[in-house]
Amino acid sequence: MNIIEVSLISYPEEAELIANIAAVICYSKESELEKVKQKAILKKEEYLSKIIESGHLSIIEHNIFVFHVSGVSRVLSHQLVRKRIASYSQQSQRYVNAASFSFITPKTIDELGMKEEYENKIKELFAFYTDLIEKGVPKEDARYILPNATSTQLVVSMNAHALIDFFSSRCCVRAQWEIRELANKMLNEVKKVAPVLFKKAGAFCDFYGYCPEIEKSCGRAPTLEQLKQNWKSNSK
Ligand SMILES: Cc1cc2nc3c(=O)[nH]c(=O)nc-3n(C[C@H](O)[C@H](O)[C@H](O)COP(=O)(O)OP(=O)(O)OC[C@H]3O[C@@H](n4cnc5c(N)ncnc54)[C@H](O)[C@@H]3O)c2cc1C
Repeated sequence: MNIIEVSLISYPEEAELIANIAAVICYSKESELEKVKQKAILKKEEYLSKIIESGHLSIIEHNIFVFHVSGVSRVLSHQLVRKRIASYSQQSQRYVNAASFSFITPKTIDELGMKEEYENKIKELFAFYTDLIEKGVPKEDARYILPNATSTQLVVSMNAHALIDFFSSRCCVRAQWEIRELANKMLNEVKKVAPVLFKKAGAFCDFYGYCPEIEKSCGRAPTLEQLKQNWKSNSK
């Protein structure tokens, strides 16, 4: 069974206070830090929520959330690292012998009754990988035969703004299932420790209230086109 493991290994406990401080300095004449802090402490949840909703997201960039992710495939990690506003450290296939690594089996293959055939093919590839290494091929070259399904582990860090953007594209039902599962697990973790920062975080439509898709919208939220049409007919 595929199990994606996600642990939030580090986060700033004061992330929401820091966001409030950043917001207060933007909108206040006050420059004495202690007074700014006091103002920030007294702010209610709605203050931060409204600023985040307004799109003033630089105030939630002064933090870093660090995750350990394992039980995922190289298919997933390849998609994950497309997110450039983030830091990554990934298990090396140059230095670590992958012979004992597990691999990911998509449900669709299992449901089609082809799990055994799929697993046997992958085991053959791993056996050939071991063979190459035993014959003296360096790990960095033998790994060329490993499939995308090979499991990997990473440490990944993002600030809250980058995470909200990541969730908006990868929690969407249109995202590929494995990265969507990872994004939803990461979202659960950050919601526990910074519920105001991530109050509306989720798929694009959760955060922005509409769907950017044109033809492939799931129908959960109005598309931008529909909003434009409504706006036009209401303003006639
Ligand atoms: C459903 C889906 C399908 C996808 N399919 C593919 C695919 O087939 N092939 C593929 O290659 N990728 C694909 N991607 C990856 C996608 O194109 C993005 O690279 C990835 O989601 C990272 O998003 P980002 O660029 O917004 O984030 P980041 O890389 O974190 O960048 C954040 C923001 O910084 C700005 N930025 C960063 N770099 C630049 C730059 N060089 N120039 C200008 N502005 C910049 C942009 O405003 C960007 O939104 C897919 C993503 C999704 C969600």
